[in-house]
Amino acid sequence: MTDYAIDLHTHSTASDGLYAPQILVQKAYEAGVRVLALTDHDSTEGVAEAAEAATRLGIDFIPGIEINTETSAGEVHMLGYFLHYQQEAFQQALRTLRDARQRRGQRMVELLNEQGIAIRWERVRELAQGAVGRPHVAQALVEAGYAQSIEEAFARYLSKGCPAYVPRYKLSPQDAVRLIVSARGLPVIAHPLELPGPEILRQWLPELCALGLVGLEVYYGPYTAEQETLLLSLARQFDLIPTGGSDYHGPGIHPTPLGGHPVPAESVRRLQEAAAARSHQTPPPFTLPEPAAE
Ligand code: AMP
Ligand code: ZN
Ligand code: FE
Ligand code: FE
Repeated sequence: MTDYAIDLHTHSTASDGLYAPQILVQKAYEAGVRVLALTDHDSTEGVAEAAEAATRLGIDFIPGIEINTETSAGEVHMLGYFLHYQQEAFQQALRTLRDARQRRGQRMVELLNEQGIAIRWERVRELAQGAVGRPHVAQALVEAGYAQSIEEAFARYLSKGCPAYVPRYKLSPQDAVRLIVSARGLPVIAHPLELPGPEILRQWLPELCALGLVGLEVYYGPYTAEQETLLLSLARQFDLIPTGGSDYHGPGIHPTPLGGHPVPAESVRRLQEAAAARSHQTPPPFTLPEPAAE
């Protein structure tokens, strides 16, 4: 292991993190992080600010993203690294995803209002400086006294099966890989032990690898050594790069501190190599499937 920390999974106010990009980078620096990726949900709006702060502090910065995808067996989250994120077609796709988040957030507020819960969309919008998510609705519910904690707001109102839950337009894991590849990025499956779980993932990996998947998040926030061993063998079997990070969102949200889960420098080196190889290829373009009529 290195004498500095590596963190390849973090969130800022560009999605549902609590710290602005440059503050997040500063906190990461203070925690000993010297290689950092910002992986906001459906947004790279924080990347330029974070990159600038990282350069100032001597942190090696990787532009990233996290895209939640839907399968019949549950959500799969796809990370993307070393994106050529300014590409217009890629930004257009991200805007489509964020617009869908916005409409869904508004519908959740409407449902809550119909149930006599007086929270305002304008407040949710203020709390979400970037991509709107359920955590921002949860925050508004806590603020207005309808729940004691974010957890409780999810459990009572916002989790799947709850009275104000509204599904969101989501890509398939295959399309998330295609989208990331179209911006010369490196797709990596995030926290693979969540649903649908490694057994089902194993069946999809051949196709996802053929589409351009390069990695599997192995060194993830709360994962134990045994869980890492299991995931490492899966990564080896499919020649995937084992990556890792904290999934930091701010104090008191996810348990792992910035840089808190050791990630080998070898992972970063392999990602850099893969990015260099990909930057010479012209990727196939990708167009988002139309969101279903609402
Ligand atoms: P969204 O993408 O808007 O559906 O929101 C998903 C985000 O909500 C996830 O990234 C989690 O950070 C957060 N989340 C999901 N379930 C819970 C929960 N039970 N308690 C707290 N946060 C949650
Ligand atoms: Zn999040
Ligand atoms: Fe995730
Ligand atoms: Fe995340």
